[in-house]
Amino acid sequence: PLIRAQNAAVDAILDAEFYKVEAILRPWRVQQVSSALLQIGIRGVTVSDVRGFGAQGGSTERHGGSEFSEDKLVAKVKMEIVVSKDQVEFVIDKIMEEARTGEIGDGKIFLIPVADVIRVRTGERGEKAERMTGGHADMSATTST
Ligand code: ATP
Ligand code: GLN
Repeated sequence: PLIRAQNAAVDAILDAEFYKVEAILRPWRVQQVSSALLQIGIRGVTVSDVRGFGAQGGSTERHGGSEFSEDKLVAKVKMEIVVSKDQVEFVIDKIMEEARTGEIGDGKIFLIPVADVIRVRTGERGEKAERMTGGHADMSATTST
């Protein structure tokens, strides 16, 4: 299975046909990541401006003691990418490749199972809704023949 949990029951719950790759990244790397994804046929991406703290933003706070204050929040970008299970590792690798500087604050990636995909325009569901014309699946189908 894609996800190895401590027991089979948890594995079963987490197993899905689609996953959302949720990456919290440095804002100035997002352009680079999204164009790299586009090049490999990942055409559906949602991006939001967010603020947060991890080791980078949190360290000032921890050493400073006292209370949480808003100015410790660091500007980040959240990229949400829903893909079929077989494309998950590939998308993660691409994000790692393009977003990593090696310094604290590079971000994190969360992997979330998605129960279904519905295309509003057509009412399609599941794989039909998740697939995009000229998307990664189309690209690999044409290059392998
Ligand atoms: P259409 O209905 O015209 O075929 P579509 O199914 O490709 O279009 P859009 O309506 O273009 O979907 O998508 C609307 C928004 O949904 C996009 O701007 C993007 O933010 C988000 N989105 C679409 N697909 C994905 C995906 N696979 N992962 C994350 N976000 C997505
Ligand atoms: N899995 C889709 C496809 O191959 C692409 C999904 C996406 O662009 N997020 O068509």
